[in-house]
Amino acid sequence: MKLIDLISFLHTVAPAHFQEDYDNAGLIVGNSQAEIKGVLVCLDAIEEVVDEAISLGCNVIVSHHPIIFRGIKQLNGKNYIERTIIKAIKNDIAIFAIHTNLDNVYFSGVNGKICEKIGLIHTSILSPKPYVHYLDSEVGAGMIGQLKKPVNVIEFLTNLKEVMQLKTIKHTRLLDRDIFKVAVCGGAGGFLLNDAKKRGADIFITSDYKYHEYFDADGDIVIADIGHYESEKYTIELLYDLIINNFSTFAAHYTKIVTNPIKYF
Ligand SMILES: [Zn+2]
Repeated sequence: MKLIDLISFLHTVAPAHFQEDYDNAGLIVGNSQAEIKGVLVCLDAIEEVVDEAISLGCNVIVSHHPIIFRGIKQLNGKNYIERTIIKAIKNDIAIFAIHTNLDNVYFSGVNGKICEKIGLIHTSILSPKPYVHYLDSEVGAGMIGQLKKPVNVIEFLTNLKEVMQLKTIKHTRLLDRDIFKVAVCGGAGGFLLNDAKKRGADIFITSDYKYHEYFDADGDIVIADIGHYESEKYTIELLYDLIINNFSTFAAHYTKIVTNPIKYF
């Protein structure tokens, strides 16, 4: 099985052209014609993950975040990005990223996985791209859905902590109403707040909120910042399951390394 076959399959799930302009998803390091020996799935293809791939005998890393976002003019190992790339090339390891294209699809996407964990039903894309459809569904950022029945907000947050395995939730003032409609966006989703409000969400679950942005909740909605890594960590499970359910000619693993650069004391 060649790497191109895996890439083609993953692009049937999340076509490359659905990625945002700022993104750099795709085959970042490696030869698409290489024979796959093993695949390691991760959120962040950092140096330690390349080491893990080497120890597992994997020559392909499937990562959510692209290790390279901007242009590189020199490659001498002065930072973690360059060291990761050099190590991958030296060890004949390919790095493929499936990022905002996986964020933007309805089926088997980052946000669908979050909705599944929370138990949302009647889900739809929160901010659909106009005139873009894929398999009869909308394409775009975030997702919104509803709970089977309205739930007390404390009960909801307690359950959210459990299902997303969170140490903490940073949130705005709780409102005097139950939670029924829930908007989600894995990663930095602050730009979707108005969409979440317009669609009548009681709570917006996302990450990477800054101090002043929390004020924008403005008594209309609860903003819950659960952390970037935490919001997307089940993307690893999503990609791993997609791969093992569709390929049997090579071994697939998911990383055991917590690549979250943010630590809690
Ligand atoms: Zn992310």
